[in-house]
Amino acid sequence: MLKIALPNKGRLSEDVRELFNDAGLEIRSRGDRALTASLGGEFEALFVRTQDIPELVADGAADAGITGWDLVCESGRPLASLLDLELGRCRLVVAVRDEWPADLRAIPAKSRAASCFPRLARSFFAERGLEVEVVPVSGAAEVAPHLGIADVVVDLTSTGSTLRMNGLREVATVLESTARLIARPEVSGDARQKLDELSLALGSVIRARDKRYIMANAPREALPRVREVLPGISGPTVIDLLHRDRLVAVHAVVSASAVYRTIAALKALGCEGILVSRIERLVP
Ligand code: AMP
Repeated sequence: MLKIALPNKGRLSEDVRELFNDAGLEIRSRGDRALTASLGGEFEALFVRTQDIPELVADGAADAGITGWDLVCESGRPLASLLDLELGRCRLVVAVRDEWPADLRAIPAKSRAASCFPRLARSFFAERGLEVEVVPVSGAAEVAPHLGIADVVVDLTSTGSTLRMNGLREVATVLESTARLIARPEVSGDARQKLDELSLALGSVIRARDKRYIMANAPREALPRVREVLPGISGPTVIDLLHRDRLVAVHAVVSASAVYRTIAALKALGCEGILVSRIERLVP
């Protein structure tokens, strides 16, 4: 059984559980606080803190893990990203007091920057020849300027509201991050094959989430224009209808955000019997 290290709490932990469930890999734990669980009968889940996952995987205590790319990069360990889960999207940014110019180059020499990501922060400033002293903190870097610890922060943000509330403005992006399935790059053989299968299963669910399957009966003569409205993955499927010469059924996958426009456009072309359904998995 391969061991997969998963987040033990928080929003990411719930989202990961839902993703595995949707992929048909049910997490069966022996109680809410269990540290391990059977995962789809094929893997064993280890529930640990997101920040410990890069080390556990790099050291071989787990065969793979799911955690933020920000934490993987901060760990400095050589780990491979097998799949982008498109969850927990955020950015690691440099922010300064909002009365300062919105320019990274305008940060005065010898400024202090508070960060929970000291390794990434230090290499970011060093690569740009900026003389900024990084002060490691274990959380809430955004309050450091209020405490007089620093004038600059290197912190995670998603909506930007925490930075704004603390009188800080973004001046540069250090890293963009999402949750990833990670493993040691050298994993091979059976283990590699199992991880590739896991990645394919999770990926097929992620890919399907923002897609819809749309079906409609279209007037045959409108087909060239229906094709423009329904490009699909490789063009729409067109099926003859029994005893209906004038109409054909057209099926296609469209992005969820385009469904509203697509329905209106199909209606305008004389389509009827329009059905839209969710897709569970999509393997291209
Ligand atoms: P924001 O939405 O920018 O106000 O972020 C709220 C707080 O959540 C910030 O203090 C960030 O440090 C933290 N945060 C936002 N996104 C993430 C993430 N994906 N992973 C971990 N922490 C995050």
